[in-house]
Amino acid sequence: MQRAGKGRTPRRPKKPSNIEKDPVGVYCRIRPLGGEDEECCVEMISSSTIQLHAPDGLKANRNGEYKETQYCFKKVFGIKTTQIELFEDVAKTLIEDLIHCKNGLLFTYGVTGSGKTYTMTGSPGEGGLLPRSLDMLFNSIGPFQAKRFVFKPDEKNGIEVQNQLDALLERQKRDSQQSVPKTPSSRQRVDPEFADMINPDQACKFEGVDEDCCYSVFVSYIEIYNNYIYDLLEDAPFDPIRPKPPQSKILREDQNHNMYVAGCTEVEVKSTEEAFDVFWKGQKKRRIANTELNRESSRSHSVFTVKLAQAPLDADGDHILQDKSQVNVSQLCLVDLAGSERTNRTRAEGSRLREAGNINQSLMTLRTCMEVLRENQMCGTNRMVPYRDSKVTHLFKNYFDGEGKVRMVVCVNPKAEDYEETLLVMRFAEMTQEVEVARPVDRPICGLTPGRRQRNQAFKDELSRRLEERGGPVNGDPVQLNQLIESLPPLPPCELSDPSDDQTLPRLMEVLERRYRIRQKMTEQFNQTANNMKFALQQFESQFSSKENVLHDQRSKLGEKDKVIANQRTEIERLEKKSKTLEYKIDILQKTTEMYEQDKRSLQQELESREQRLQKELAERRRMEQRMQGVVTDTKLKWERECERRVNAKQLELQNKLWVKDEKLKQLKAIVTENGGASGGPAEPPRKPERPSRERDRNVAQKRSASPTPLSGNVFKTRGGGQAVEFTDIETLKQEDPTAPSRKRRSGSGEGPAQTDDIENRPPVANISSSHGYQKRRRP
Ligand code: ADP
Ligand code: MG
Repeated sequence: MQRAGKGRTPRRPKKPSNIEKDPVGVYCRIRPLGGEDEECCVEMISSSTIQLHAPDGLKANRNGEYKETQYCFKKVFGIKTTQIELFEDVAKTLIEDLIHCKNGLLFTYGVTGSGKTYTMTGSPGEGGLLPRSLDMLFNSIGPFQAKRFVFKPDEKNGIEVQNQLDALLERQKRDSQQSVPKTPSSRQRVDPEFADMINPDQACKFEGVDEDCCYSVFVSYIEIYNNYIYDLLEDAPFDPIRPKPPQSKILREDQNHNMYVAGCTEVEVKSTEEAFDVFWKGQKKRRIANTELNRESSRSHSVFTVKLAQAPLDADGDHILQDKSQVNVSQLCLVDLAGSERTNRTRAEGSRLREAGNINQSLMTLRTCMEVLRENQMCGTNRMVPYRDSKVTHLFKNYFDGEGKVRMVVCVNPKAEDYEETLLVMRFAEMTQEVEVARPVDRPICGLTPGRRQRNQAFKDELSRRLEERGGPVNGDPVQLNQLIESLPPLPPCELSDPSDDQTLPRLMEVLERRYRIRQKMTEQFNQTANNMKFALQQFESQFSSKENVLHDQRSKLGEKDKVIANQRTEIERLEKKSKTLEYKIDILQKTTEMYEQDKRSLQQELESREQRLQKELAERRRMEQRMQGVVTDTKLKWERECERRVNAKQLELQNKLWVKDEKLKQLKAIVTENGGASGGPAEPPRKPERPSRERDRNVAQKRSASPTPLSGNVFKTRGGGQAVEFTDIETLKQEDPTAPSRKRRSGSGEGPAQTDDIENRPPVANISSSHGYQKRRRP
């Protein structure tokens, strides 16, 4: 048996320090509550954030210490998320990576009953990530699959490629051993449980498959229980009388430091149905073992591995290139982890408790590994990661140490009883998101011309078409040979019956010589044509290789661009996250600003209204002042005029009195002189008493008004709502009247004042009412 090539699950040599890394992609899926009346403690508050509320009972216990906690993920899937939506976000790129020779690890994590198995496997009509991944893989590579046994797993985690003949022999051997139909992929054989796992409308396909490669898929299925590994696909003879407990497997490290389960069955599958059939068989075996051995299925981890081997076609595009360096193997591990709840919750006893302890132990180890990895990455430390402490972590060591894409779906049951466990799950998930895994690098492209498969196919199609046109058999060589022979000169009869026959042989020789010459000529012609053809081919090839070089260059450029794009995408993601937090901050600031602005507005309004009131009061006061001034001048004028009038009247009266007295005095004099004159000279004519001149009057008036006492008074409110002014100081009009009683005497006597005095000395009162101006009024 010839072994031409061999490939291994890849682990590349020590990476340079500038290797690109991606964080573990952590997604969260919330399952619906079991019953409507159940208390819910998980709320999805955005497409990437969930919030946990402590259930009522717990709040009371903790004496109000509790607070709501939020957890962010790459994406959160709410209760209405369909299986296909989840698949498209979580697993689709892993399949694309698988086809691009990159490894992937996808696991579900959560408390028992949170939907891990539902998410990974699904149920009829609602296939989970596993059947969908298989479906997408086979939809994509379907027509480019190698024949069975062309790729063949070795016993050391590698895959060999064997030639067509060896593969054919093995196929024949298998067919003779098995009585099963040759095509197990036919729909009729499919397990009814799988029959409608995936709706054909939801079929996914990756269009970027390299058609110049041949592919083969191998699946394996193991279970890790109590830190022992069991092969679920092993065909162990079953002894119904003394059933043997299943044998556990060990982990080994291959040449490239990848961990693998030694002696684990790897089944080559050619279709989704066949692959799922294998999975289902393993699942059944698992169920039986669990029942027989009284194990609890929620405490085991199951790992379904899809291995994809691929190798390029040779230059003809007809067969697989028998070059071991060109065989690539990638794998995707789909892991349904055990329930993450603590032991006490499951109320396990005895050996079960021990088992549960181990399950706990393996998940604990997973957690410790993540913590140490994170610490090493963040702080640049070099603490040893304890992968070897449990089988689960040991098996996947190279994903974290080496390279690959790691994704985790954290399943959450929002019911209140799970709250505390869910809290632990969330913490683990949050921490895991900070672990970074080296991004798988792109494989170098093989140097052969792309499009080989298509060209070969086209050539084959054309050949069979032409042959069909000629109506001849597929193998046309004898026809051409016959035609050629017919075109040569016919051989003469060459039977020698007479020993003396000397004609036949020379004739034959002549014909043969002629034939030889023709043949030589034909050979020459053929050689010339072949040379021409060769030349043309060489030309064609050189053109081709230059084109190929260009293409190669373009490809590598494309690869670089892709890398740049991917980088920018992560940068964008980072910036988006940042912008989200900033937006949140802005939101808060805006709200604060709004509050302040509202305060400001109300204060301004108050200020304005106060100012308005002030203005109004000022205006009122000014009006009042003006009014008061008017009143004062009016009153002053009136009183001046009145005083003048009275002064004049008094003057007149006094003059008259003076005149009368003068007259009397004259008469008296005359009498006296008459008496004397009778005795002396003639009597003088009586003299008219002199009137006081106007000039003197005016002087007096001027003197009086020279220093007018300014009026002053108090404003007081009247009972009717108007205002009144009481003058407290007014110029007192006085005239020295020899007959009038003196002021001193009056005040000293304490008698009631004279009528005139009364009028002059009392302050006049002006009553101002809003409707009637003002009136003079006497005080009672
Ligand atoms: P786990 O594997 O975590 O123990 P399962 O996947 O077995 O949990 O889920 C427990 C039950 O909840 C199953 O009956 C399953 O059908 C149901 N379930 C889980 N997740 C969902 C979901 N997203 N939508 C509907 N049913 C779900
Ligand atoms: Mg389960």
